[in-house]
Amino acid sequence: MTGSRVAINLGQVRARIRAAAHRAGRAPDDVALVAVSKRQPSEAIRAAYQAGQRVFGESYVQEALAKMALLADLDIEWHFVGRVQSNKTRSIAVHFDWVHGLADATHARRLSEQRPTERPPLNVCVQINLSGESSKAGLDPAQVSDLLAVCDDLSGIRVRGLMTLPSPAEGEMAQRRPFQVLRALRDGLANPTRPLTCLSMGMTSDLEAAVLEGATFVRIGTAIFGPRPYN
Ligand SMILES: *Cc1c(COP(=O)(O)O)cnc(C)c1O
Repeated sequence: MTGSRVAINLGQVRARIRAAAHRAGRAPDDVALVAVSKRQPSEAIRAAYQAGQRVFGESYVQEALAKMALLADLDIEWHFVGRVQSNKTRSIAVHFDWVHGLADATHARRLSEQRPTERPPLNVCVQINLSGESSKAGLDPAQVSDLLAVCDDLSGIRVRGLMTLPSPAEGEMAQRRPFQVLRALRDGLANPTRPLTCLSMGMTSDLEAAVLEGATFVRIGTAIFGPRPYN
């Protein structure tokens, strides 16, 4: 995909966010765009950066580190959006600013211990599995408050909110349902010391539904970069 195509696509995604925010009576700036660049070459990231994008999401640690090295001249905020694995926590803690998808107390402790002390705490969204499928990543809603209690005592990470990745659904009404559940769950768990302001939800196919239900991060890959070219 050419750099100008990436810039055009990015403009269209921003327009979708603006339109959905307008429908929801929300400020478009309250919805941050994470450009999910997994499996895309560093040139595509550079093209999006030149079109004004600063926040990028990656799912595979080794691949991300290689691209970070190639893009070290850019001022990028890196978000890890993949599955956290124990043998990758150190690289995540050192090289990323955010993690969308924490679902395990052991990973939480490791990320906190391994976060360099000179850096601010690693920002984290806790992943919730709302479809009940055991094959899917994320915590059962009933388990979340225990993980939040563990995280409250960890100085190297800071839980900022919740994240979900629902099963694909057709139609806006059906797409909105899990996002509504995530928001309600967040409302019930938030307190003054742990405001949980972030809701990380919405991808290429359900961006509008997520913004209508209060998403503060949408994680968009395909609509910006096209189909993922390699794996
Ligand atoms: C790949 C990925 C995305 C982006 O999905 P698209 O459908 O390409 O927009 C978002 N979130 C997560 C967790 C992903 O793994």
